[in-house]
Amino acid sequence: MSECVFCKIVAGELPSRNVYEDDELLAFHDIYPLAAVHLLIIPKTHIVSLAECTTKHQDLLGRMLLLAPRLAQTHGLESGFRTAINTGRGGGQTVFHLHINMFGGGERPAQG
Ligand code: 5GP
Ligand code: ZN
Repeated sequence: MSECVFCKIVAGELPSRNVYEDDELLAFHDIYPLAAVHLLIIPKTHIVSLAECTTKHQDLLGRMLLLAPRLAQTHGLESGFRTAINTGRGGGQTVFHLHINMFGGGERPAQG
């Protein structure tokens, strides 16, 4: 069994508040939100970080990014949002399964 928390969420072994799912992507609310709206967009397949991606991941990465503005429309973030892909310990990554953090909402621009 995988020890990765996001793989466990994908497998349904940990609960999550999902906002989007298709064959290759899952998006859900962050458990400790850093903004009024804080969503995570992940690939269902385990990829450690952006540093492990190659050209074979180009389409997947594109689809992950393009999901963000779609989720913004359905989560009241029409005025804008911020995205962050923390990569590696030096980049502040704490969950080593590739993900896009998406922040927005509230009165001031999201810091996240
Ligand atoms: P990062 O690696 O981008 O710095 O942070 C990972 C993010 O995943 C954090 O914002 C953290 O709150 C979130 N996170 C960690 N474990 C869980 C979990 O089990 N469920 C959810 N929904 N979010 C999680
Ligand atoms: Zn994983």
